[in-house]
Amino acid sequence: MATSAPTLPLLDVDNPATGETVATIEQVGADAVAPAAERARAAQVRWAARPWRERAAVVRRFHDLALDRSDLVLDTIQSESGKSRRDALAELITVAGTARYYLAHGRHHLSDRRARPGVPLLTRARSAWQPHGLVGLITPWNFPFLLGVADALPALLAGNAVLTKPSELTPLSTLLARDLLVEAGLDPDLFQPLVGAGPELGGPLVAAVDYVGFTGSTATGRIVARAAADRLIPCSLELGGKNPMLVMPGARIEDAVHGLVAGGFANSGQTCISVERIYVHDDVWDEFVAGARARVGALRVGWSEGFDVEMGSLVSVDHADKVRAHIADARERGAEILVGGDEPPPGLGRAFVTPTIVTGTDETMAIHSEETFGPVVRLERVASAEEAIAKANDSDLGLNGSVWAGGRRGARGLARRLAVGTANVNSTLLIYNSYDVPMGGIRRSGIGRRHAAAGIQRYCRQQSIVESFSRGGGYEIILRLVDTPKRTAALLRVVRLWRRVPGMR
Ligand code: NAD
Repeated sequence: MATSAPTLPLLDVDNPATGETVATIEQVGADAVAPAAERARAAQVRWAARPWRERAAVVRRFHDLALDRSDLVLDTIQSESGKSRRDALAELITVAGTARYYLAHGRHHLSDRRARPGVPLLTRARSAWQPHGLVGLITPWNFPFLLGVADALPALLAGNAVLTKPSELTPLSTLLARDLLVEAGLDPDLFQPLVGAGPELGGPLVAAVDYVGFTGSTATGRIVARAAADRLIPCSLELGGKNPMLVMPGARIEDAVHGLVAGGFANSGQTCISVERIYVHDDVWDEFVAGARARVGALRVGWSEGFDVEMGSLVSVDHADKVRAHIADARERGAEILVGGDEPPPGLGRAFVTPTIVTGTDETMAIHSEETFGPVVRLERVASAEEAIAKANDSDLGLNGSVWAGGRRGARGLARRLAVGTANVNSTLLIYNSYDVPMGGIRRSGIGRRHAAAGIQRYCRQQSIVESFSRGGGYEIILRLVDTPKRTAALLRVVRLWRRVPGMR
């Protein structure tokens, strides 16, 4: 007798800022993954056979629809994350930017490339891109709409189907993205969100797909990488950071303070590339600390569906407690709290964390090198740029960095010396909206890149096609002709000369 899988409890999605349950939705278990993959694979064959312009038309309509329905998009993001309206708007703008970039440049990144032939005149070579087929994406809660759909857009444009597993804390934005894609004309089987528990769905998802793109914590990334390695499928890992900011003499301090507010406190500090450590040169310490104290201490924190609040809540009380534990640990071990502290802002719930600046930290404190992922930064005074670079690079994470210094060339030189995948000069977060440069981490911050050519090529396997003209002396004929010492010597003379012939090397 066939047994059906046990029914899973419904999933409540809560607004952490208000505590209200905003939706109750069905979740799926491991048994749902294989059938979803089968439907996706059938749809993918038809999708990949359509010309680029037809696939692009769907993504273009999605781009326009998301902007037309901006209120719905922002309401949905805010309702499940508790973030400010402005932070939700940043997600929408970045989704639109990603769509715009790949609509304009994706086809070029995937076009065939003529390459230098193995034997000039007798052979030809080119490389081409073919979609993997079925792409799996596993995404976190910190940018539910942006990370819920933006990485899927180049995958779809390249001709893949996508199974995506959003965070169980914030599935609504991904479901909305799916609705908008379907309204834009996408076959629903081509972008299927699987809502449910990560440890339950993660394994079956990796087992069902041809490529997995993971965004989330370093610990979970390791589990996903192991599962991908078992199957020998390619994967990318976009993981955490403990991102340094350097403030050096000659920097415009007022701008650097604004950079700190954006880099450390936008999205309530829950941004993989957000600033967590700031190294400030002696010469500008007093001015920077005074500015940072004033500006961070005055941040308007709360819940609002308007633009009157600068910082919303964190994603959950649990996560806010973890962030507060970093502040409390630092305070108890002797750090100085310059602004904020480990109590929620007055009158607000426990999912809110008071924007906090800490100084006088040391290696014994969790805040020193662990990712805090909240509105908390630590400041450290340094005597030179050399000391700042050495301290910034003393980390096993290497995602993003930021340099503020007088003279752009000097600042760029410092940026190059940071051990990070992405570096910003006179900015902290600009990298994420710079779609034509690859974005990703080094060290334990990840493997692989999103954005730019790499961000669409990763969803394809590269195929090389070489041709030999067999009539009149193709490659194989040459090999057959070399069958005596004299002919071998003649061939070696040609090989020796070859290095000197321009245009044929
Ligand atoms: P997380 O690792 O806890 O969860 C991420 C996703 O993985 C979720 O969908 C979760 O359900 C799923 N998951 C959990 N266990 C799993 C398992 N065993 N197998 C497969 N999937 C599993 O991360 P989070 O707390 O949601 O997100 C915060 C982290 O994400 C931070 O460390 C942050 O730095 C990182 N992040 C990185 C980037 C980047 O681009 N580098 C962007 C955003 C967030």
